Amino acid sequence: MNPVHERFLRYVKIDTASDHHSNTTPSTKKQFELAKLLEQEMRAMGLQNVSLDENGYLMATLPGNTPKAPVIGLIAHMDTSPDFTATGVNPRIINNYDGGDILLNQEQTIIMSPKDFPELLKYTGQDLITTDGTTLLGADDKAGIAEILSAVEFFMANPEIPRGDLKIGFTPDEEVGRGADHFEVEKFAADFAYTLDGGELGELEYENFNAASATVKFHGRNIHPGNAKDKMVNSQHLAMTFNAMLPAAERPEHTTGYEGFFHLNEMKGDVELAELHYIIRDHDLEKFEARKRLMTEAAGYMNQRHGAGTVELLLKDSYFNMKEKILPVMEIVEEVKGAMEAVGVKPLIKAIRGGTDGSRLSYMGLPTPNIFTGGHNYHGRFEYIPMASMDKAVEVIVETVRRFAEKAV
Ligand SMILES: [Zn+2]
Repeated sequence: MNPVHERFLRYVKIDTASDHHSNTTPSTKKQFELAKLLEQEMRAMGLQNVSLDENGYLMATLPGNTPKAPVIGLIAHMDTSPDFTATGVNPRIINNYDGGDILLNQEQTIIMSPKDFPELLKYTGQDLITTDGTTLLGADDKAGIAEILSAVEFFMANPEIPRGDLKIGFTPDEEVGRGADHFEVEKFAADFAYTLDGGELGELEYENFNAASATVKFHGRNIHPGNAKDKMVNSQHLAMTFNAMLPAAERPEHTTGYEGFFHLNEMKGDVELAELHYIIRDHDLEKFEARKRLMTEAAGYMNQRHGAGTVELLLKDSYFNMKEKILPVMEIVEEVKGAMEAVGVKPLIKAIRGGTDGSRLSYMGLPTPNIFTGGHNYHGRFEYIPMASMDKAVEVIVETVRRFAEKAV
């Protein structure tokens, strides 16, 4: 079997689910099981400076053969999403997919059908790796790990191919939004990097949302409802008035592409105190700032009308669009695009409607666009990955590294 598939099938069997509710780093101890296995494998391969730190960050270096070439980082995350169980992953190989329904699990009659997932039909005639219907697969992001290590192996077996130093970084806790928290950018010492953490064949991403959260508290005054005339202030009605001042069409359920939104993700309250929690998202920085201003003005207006301190607004930035940090070094996207075309992959460049570890790393001084791994339907039982897409991801890494080295000579 092709080494990238063999690696992948081994890694997915190790449960590395992260945990939103944990305060430790990594959020789950079991992530160390994969980290330690990878550490051993990387030492056995002969990589240099292999280090696994106490936070679960694994780093290593493959020295280059072209001194002037840039130092390129390759990053993937070891954890899988806590949204679906990763215990007892039992991957299945569907050879020569016939374009019909796939019976993932006979006992429980779990079927993956192109009626629900029409993209499956793109892979008719190909070999797929699926779940057995009872767990997620973990292609997100163990496919990225397998692809990076297979590319490294390929370079070691073909030392005549020009390359700069390669830095490998495997992180914990990406799925709980903390993958960049303890990433030592200086120790990693790459000029730029790529996360191998995208979806289908050809995906290439260097734009993501600007993101903030808003907590809005409304203070009311409770009086017996029988004697409430001109005395009661119901904080829940204040909250509804505030929400009504936000544009109703600019919600996640009505927006797509580059359209931003306000998302009310939690509300609670009684007459005395009501609380609304929003997230605010926009790719465009000016529009993002305007969204925060609109909330501030709405709160100010209500305080003027109902008395100072009636509404408390707490805005907090979460992450920013990496585009600002990538545009000055756009060649790091262009070379991947060129590499994809050279190995017969059609680039699918799109803006992420979310964030990545790469967006955080880009603001920490390491510009980091995102490349496909080939997987589909992440975070659930219908996750699958076409084996040929994994091969192409390895080729794209190799070709990208080679192009940068050739340009440097
Ligand atoms: Zn991922």
